[in-house]
Amino acid sequence: MGLFERVFRGSDEMYAKAEADVNALVKELGPDAPMKMPDTAYFLACIYAYIGKKVTTVGELQAALADVKALMLREPRTHSIFNSGVGTAIAAEMIEACKYAKTATPYGEKDDNVNYHGHFSDAEVRELGVPLVTGDIPGFVVLIGPAPSAEEAAETIKGYQSRGIFVFMIGGIIQQARSQGIKMGFPVRVVPVGEDIWSVGHIISLVVRASMIFGNTQPGDWDAFMDYTFKRINAFVNAYAPVNDITVACGAGAIKLGFPVVTNDTNDMWRVPKSLIVYENTKDWIETSLEARGIKIKVTNIDIPVAFSSAFEGEIIRKADMQIEADGSRVDCFELVRTKDVHEIEDHAIILEGKDFDEFGVGEKITFSIIAEVGGKNMQPDFEPVMERKIHNFFNCIEGVMHTGQRDMIRIRVSKAAFEAGWRAKHFGEVLYAKIKSEYDAVVDKCQIRICTDPDKCKELRAEANHVFDARDERLKTLTDESVDVFYTCILCQAFSPSHVCIVTPERLGLCGAVSWLDAKATKQLDPNGPCQIVPKTRCIDERLGRYEDVYEAVQEYSHGALEKVTLYSIMEDPMTSCGCFECICGIEPVSNGVVITNREHAGMTPLGMTFSEMASMTGGGVQTPGFMGHGKNFIYSKKFMKAEGGLGRIVWLPKALKDTVRDKLNESAKELMGIDNFADMIADETVTEDAEELMNFLTEHNHPVLQMDPLM
Ligand code: SF4
Ligand code: ZN
Repeated sequence: MGLFERVFRGSDEMYAKAEADVNALVKELGPDAPMKMPDTAYFLACIYAYIGKKVTTVGELQAALADVKALMLREPRTHSIFNSGVGTAIAAEMIEACKYAKTATPYGEKDDNVNYHGHFSDAEVRELGVPLVTGDIPGFVVLIGPAPSAEEAAETIKGYQSRGIFVFMIGGIIQQARSQGIKMGFPVRVVPVGEDIWSVGHIISLVVRASMIFGNTQPGDWDAFMDYTFKRINAFVNAYAPVNDITVACGAGAIKLGFPVVTNDTNDMWRVPKSLIVYENTKDWIETSLEARGIKIKVTNIDIPVAFSSAFEGEIIRKADMQIEADGSRVDCFELVRTKDVHEIEDHAIILEGKDFDEFGVGEKITFSIIAEVGGKNMQPDFEPVMERKIHNFFNCIEGVMHTGQRDMIRIRVSKAAFEAGWRAKHFGEVLYAKIKSEYDAVVDKCQIRICTDPDKCKELRAEANHVFDARDERLKTLTDESVDVFYTCILCQAFSPSHVCIVTPERLGLCGAVSWLDAKATKQLDPNGPCQIVPKTRCIDERLGRYEDVYEAVQEYSHGALEKVTLYSIMEDPMTSCGCFECICGIEPVSNGVVITNREHAGMTPLGMTFSEMASMTGGGVQTPGFMGHGKNFIYSKKFMKAEGGLGRIVWLPKALKDTVRDKLNESAKELMGIDNFADMIADETVTEDAEELMNFLTEHNHPVLQMDPLM
């Protein structure tokens, strides 16, 4: 029997199960029962993407069986086996969908202590946007089946993790990982998807949604999907022997999407260069796979006793596992980057003042401050906050270290495991030094680190640091769209949204929330031909809308002609485009003439009758959609928020948690713009209502300013 036959047998098997499950479901629930996957606006995404049908009922699911069957032609041609492979993936999605038709939570923690993930929400797909474009996640691996041993499984998973590769697991390897104490979950980027091979449907669903969300790929357009997944999604598969026919059929689907498969199963396997790789030494799979998918990993060698990888960013350290904690809300702690004359800096010096970590007790709360002193002829004080904000990300990448906050409101935890591995105070210095020197080499010639754990000295240093922070805040206040000479483009997201361009101004940060005007300025300096280019602002056409001839030219050039013109301050007239990784989405609420804003973290409903996922699906992929706009959290309190339509006084509804984080600044801006006190209290949230009519009552009761504004349409 050849490989073709194995694919056909596997796809028949998957199809037969899908057919049986779907038919049983129709019998159980009836054809009119609703069929919806949780937290997605893309229906059953594989069916929607490849067949172009929006399945919303169990009966429609049953009707789609024929479309899947039609893909599975038993012809001995390469084209047919790959189509059968895609059909297999869709059949897998159908099998999984049957579970979700009965309960919204078929997965979750089971008796064996593994929290199987199952379906991915749209928010999770979107969350991947920024780490993918920045290269923090250079790719994805799907590990299928048990590895030769549990130890090897753990080693391979950690190997991928240390390279930043996002790990999906299916089948026996999950129990192996559990037995080796591997931390699993979406935040640590090691995800136990499901026990059965059909759970692969969730991964393909994630992939096709990424393509629709970021790439604006249209349902039914196979070529566009193949092109997108091949060019922009660096995924690959590692399938451990013995590989059954059904897995072989899934592998054919993966190859069709452009994802190479590496296996040690030699039974009727053919080698297909760069696509199907039979490699018996499973211990070499990481290098083999990365090479096959063309993934190059940038490593910074840091002399520390624990691992360093973006995979550890989401790691949480509980009190019981904690060796030491620095808590800036209780004692004097801070982090600071300062410019100094190069002659005053001894490169790579790490100076510790006070006790080291082994001189404190277990679980002790300590004072801790860290200052990076940097110098170089291209260094500007404006880059200090840019580097300083990255400390959070640098320290979180350390295995066994958790960092939150910034400036003098930081909290750092070091785990017992990291301490026992030899983690000491100076290692924070090693990390900071290495990262600053590698990421900012164009502006930093020399860097030295001062660490202090002495309470009295920390108090004194903190007072000095606060002067620096205050001075910076003053500078930020004077940074307005009017006060600067240039804006910047950012096209980092073009890796996934080929025609998207952000225009970043002092009062409008990039919609991902990660790129401010200062960041863009630093990026331009560090990488002159990189994603951030200067947009002069010499030819203003319309001040109210923020129309500039220069901005038009920039978006035309950098969107490669896909975009003609954008305004900076309007949501209705030529609004800025969205890629897919926006923190918030804002949409017009027609009854009140206001806007509703919701964010990725908020899973609930809004008064528009849409969730975040549904609102987010209205825009994206670099397209202009008047009435909907993706934006960063900080833009909510900007004086330029919807300036053309009356400003932030248009905001009528926000999720409570988001409202609380922006409350003070929002109130401050509202006071300045409209003379209103406590504006945040006039804005409804989910604890008030999720209904448009009740929303109007609330706004009337609170005399919300939107009621005096002109209609939006
Ligand atoms: Fe993407 Fe815009 Fe953020 Fe740049 S500023 S990373 S283009 S969302
Ligand atoms: Zn983006």
